[in-house]
Amino acid sequence: MSQSHLPRAYAAIDLDAVRDSVAALVARARNATTMAVVKADGYGHGMVPCARAALDAGAGWLGTAFLEEALGLRAAGINAPIFSWLAAPGERLAAGLAADIDLSASATWALAELAAAARQVGRAARVHLKVDTGLGRAGATAEDWPNLCDTAAALEGEGLLDVVGVWSHFAFADDPGNPTVQSQIGRFGDAVDVARKAGLNPQIRHLANSAATLITPEAHFDMVRPGVSVYGLSPGPEVGPPSAFGLRPAMTLRATTALVKRVPEGTGVSYAHRYTTRSETNLAVVPLGYADGIPRAATNTAEVLIGGRRRRIAGTVCMDQFVVDVGVDPVAAGDDVVLFGPGHHGEPTSDDWARALGTINYEIVTRVGARVPRVYT
Ligand code: PLP
Repeated sequence: MSQSHLPRAYAAIDLDAVRDSVAALVARARNATTMAVVKADGYGHGMVPCARAALDAGAGWLGTAFLEEALGLRAAGINAPIFSWLAAPGERLAAGLAADIDLSASATWALAELAAAARQVGRAARVHLKVDTGLGRAGATAEDWPNLCDTAAALEGEGLLDVVGVWSHFAFADDPGNPTVQSQIGRFGDAVDVARKAGLNPQIRHLANSAATLITPEAHFDMVRPGVSVYGLSPGPEVGPPSAFGLRPAMTLRATTALVKRVPEGTGVSYAHRYTTRSETNLAVVPLGYADGIPRAATNTAEVLIGGRRRRIAGTVCMDQFVVDVGVDPVAAGDDVVLFGPGHHGEPTSDDWARALGTINYEIVTRVGARVPRVYT
């Protein structure tokens, strides 16, 4: 039995791979600072260890969606600049300001809340104004942008805000040649001009996610905000494989078979018997299920490496387990199963899983559940 000293399943996280990938991004961004996006528990890889690895490798900033994530970084003793961009009305922004966290505003009500928090804390709130240049998500519309800038300038005049940045986000960055990329860059430049005319002096203009960091240098501006590629993954099949950019996938999801048993031909496997054995065979039970983030859609679809071969999941993925038909291969209880990893030893990659399930590698890695320990190597 292999791996008996390790948990029944775990995500091995290669922090050297994170460091190498961040170093590759930093080199690509050349004149821009790199903000490593570590939201969603570092895309499932573990926020704090990955944040530290990213800073070691030359990232100058960390980015999170939510304030509690940013506060978690501070609680871990990380002093690097942090930007956190998604607060709902009524959030305790004062805690963020007190912890030296830069915040975002897309609307005048958000500026008013930041100003109130600044009064409470007794110092100006550092804010990055967000403009919607075409994603159609957060950010002020072109119509609302001048008023947002004027309001911010007035609050800056009162000493309540310090507008340090202007930022936006792409809709099609992973689609090389998509015309919206250049039009968003153009609108972004226009928005910066409007901010300057309003009397603001934003020093940090940032727009580029991983894809734009890798393939659109004219989008780098003062800072880039890669996320998925920090963890060694490509932002999309059209962008290219990770190896083309010096990225090294950091996560390998492994388990130990809990049981292997011989069954006759015609055996129905797992809930609703969505798989039936075609001959006498061996079934291996793998102790990972949808409660661990293995999509139920992987039923009869995704492949794993077991007994040295790639084999498809047999039947329904359950809450805590799934089954693999290992045929007559010499697989025993306690043997190693690799669901996905960098792909160097015949195992599927998170890209393979994404392709099989009609999703993106982001979803495959971020949904690996809290029940699965992360083991750092
Ligand atoms: N910036 C923002 C606002 C984001 O929401 C994200 C991720 O979704 C990123 C940057 C990083 O994007 P990516 O993981 O594609 O590099």
